[in-house]
Amino acid sequence: MRTRLTLAAFVCALGLNAVSAAGCPEHFSPAAKERLKDSIDVEATEHQLNVVYFIGSDSEPVADYERRISELLLYLQQFYAKEMDRNGFGRRAFGLARKQNGNVDILLVRGAKPAAEYSYDGNGARKCLDELNAFYAAHPETKRSRHSFIIMPTLYNATYNDDTPGGVPFFGYGVNCFALDYKDFDIKHLGENSHKGRLLTKWYGGFAHELAHGLNAPHNDGPASLNEKFGMPLLNAGNYTFGLKPTYLTPATACIFDRSETFAPKGDQTDFYNGGAPVPRVSDAKLVFGDDTLKLTLRCHGSCRHLIAYMQDPPYSINRDYDAVSFVGEMGEKRADGSREVSFVIPRAELKALHNDTQQLELLFVGEEGNRSRWNMEIHWPTVLASPATLGIPANLNPYRSGY
Ligand code: ZN
Repeated sequence: MRTRLTLAAFVCALGLNAVSAAGCPEHFSPAAKERLKDSIDVEATEHQLNVVYFIGSDSEPVADYERRISELLLYLQQFYAKEMDRNGFGRRAFGLARKQNGNVDILLVRGAKPAAEYSYDGNGARKCLDELNAFYAAHPETKRSRHSFIIMPTLYNATYNDDTPGGVPFFGYGVNCFALDYKDFDIKHLGENSHKGRLLTKWYGGFAHELAHGLNAPHNDGPASLNEKFGMPLLNAGNYTFGLKPTYLTPATACIFDRSETFAPKGDQTDFYNGGAPVPRVSDAKLVFGDDTLKLTLRCHGSCRHLIAYMQDPPYSINRDYDAVSFVGEMGEKRADGSREVSFVIPRAELKALHNDTQQLELLFVGEEGNRSRWNMEIHWPTVLASPATLGIPANLNPYRSGY
């Protein structure tokens, strides 16, 4: 692994002739060069995202996939880095390994079965992951991190083709996520008022959103004031707005990426997602309501880098959680015993997109090693408003591990 990193650094240096000062390879399309001309330098990472192009035994990659996917990924990496920077984390994004010519180093894997076997409906994601894991086991040097972004060409049958792409897995799935490729999946159509432009927004916005899931981020909405300022959160309906209308990363999503493996700066030796790391413990929790604002304070013991609170209307299940308005807790100084006080301020005015009398307050604990744990309770607003004061929150909470 160390040899490989050294080699990657060497290749980057060699690649200077092929990559312009803005980091844009010479063979990229004029449209990509235009999109990337205000590129910022993205901080080097300790680990890189595995970008996998997975094809069936009877199919070939879509023409020019390396250039097209590289352009789309680099533009997306810029979006992530600029948003992380705006959120106070520096110019950080998911790391990408590059080839000498500036393309993203995409791992082409041919499956054992015909493409039709890897369909969305036919449990294609599971079949693909089983084969991919076997491939990584046989070729460990190709695995750069735990996170894999898997791209499959559209199916070609009576329903799907390059004009109506689909039929393959398209979702985030733990540390893996799936997107698709088709002939006109090209950054030159971004923002175009045409069939190809609308198709691109649909699939590229989805590509951006699903990748975020594969990098640990759940759905969430922004507080009303941030939405007014920055537009649509990527992890809300940003898949429909990315590249067309203002789209942003909420502070909560940025906190999760801060401790996501492929964002770790070079030299960060964290043992990410170490299953042995204990779940944080909470004491002294207090929730009060006054001045039309919920105020939550608590003391977090154990590995607790960030703490996020979500408020949402029912139902609360996955994919019914786009409306979860997110707030980042202010972290106090670490005490000698390692614990930190955390405080949240949640003005009701920031929740104006929510309407139900009963809402869920959920806490997401993000550990130093990227593990996530959760705890939740319901808040019945008519009761709170009738007798505002201390709300019934247990002083000692027991979060449960929800991710790695
Ligand atoms: Zn989603």
